Amino acid sequence: MNAGAAAPIKGAPVARTIKAAVARIVAEREGTPCLVNVVVGDDGASESYLAALEKLAAKLGIDARRIALPADCDEGAVCAAVEDAGSDPGVHGVMIQFPLPEGLDRERVASFLPAHKDVDGITAASLGACLAGTRRHTAPATAAAVVELLAADPETRVAGKHVVVLGRSLVVGRPLAAMLARPGDGGNATVTLCHSRTADVAGHCRRADVLVVAVGKQHLVTPDWVAPGAVVVDVGTHPVEGPDGWTLAGDVHPDVGAVAGRLTPVPGGVGPVTNAVLMRHVAAACHPDAFPPAW
Ligand code: NAP
Repeated sequence: MNAGAAAPIKGAPVARTIKAAVARIVAEREGTPCLVNVVVGDDGASESYLAALEKLAAKLGIDARRIALPADCDEGAVCAAVEDAGSDPGVHGVMIQFPLPEGLDRERVASFLPAHKDVDGITAASLGACLAGTRRHTAPATAAAVVELLAADPETRVAGKHVVVLGRSLVVGRPLAAMLARPGDGGNATVTLCHSRTADVAGHCRRADVLVVAVGKQHLVTPDWVAPGAVVVDVGTHPVEGPDGWTLAGDVHPDVGAVAGRLTPVPGGVGPVTNAVLMRHVAAACHPDAFPPAW
């Protein structure tokens, strides 16, 4: 691919295809998929994210509910809420909004979530299934969205290429590295996983055919980190105030567009695909036989 003005890797067309399949299956089948979000305290960012998710769910025929708990509630109450939703046969997917208020233990709360309803892949069981490739609807949604976005276009497919994943969180980087390296559609890449202790991070990034950045540091990746013509996926989201109000910035500096061959916009790249993938996970938890092994 040529360097210059990087062609965008837009999330909307990929998200549209996923959503159309979900809406069709939900309309055809008996039984309404139901997602429960467990929210502790009232965090502004989480509120707008949940509102967008609920709107999308309604559009696709998915029932999205919230269990809202006060910020000062004790850990037992949060665990009980997760356990109740998990044991309700009318609920197919359960998400817990992180971060939890201080004093609440993420791992302990997550341990009350049954693996088959873990539609955002936060439990150890779901991460294990993701590594083994045995249960697609509980893979971490953002990581799955990156795989799907790259696989959607022959120019960005990773098979046989060197992919550098920058960031090793359990939400994005580590499951993503495993998914890209595994055999099968969307995989077969040779993966280097970098983090804050990696020596010469920029040097590793420059050797990437495909660079995926999930570091949570606004504009960390600059043009000198990127090989001319490389494919760059920016997972980062940072609320910033622009001339037209609030928007999002990424982990990749916009000037990278002058060097890369392809680049995801922020907003409008990974984010919309992540939400669509989450909806598909909920629908698949309700109608497991409706979704083929390779969707
Ligand atoms: P995180 O848990 O904070 O992890 C960040 C990772 O980046 C860590 O592994 C850290 O290394 C590494 N890192 C930090 N600074 C680095 C540096 N200078 N050089 C190399 N590695 C560095 O973040 P996350 O949850 O994965 O999220 C990453 C970004 O994605 C955030 O901006 C978040 O808002 C965004 N996000 C977007 C979506 C979406 O749908 N678009 C979904 C989830 C997250 P160590 O492990 O060594 O500390």
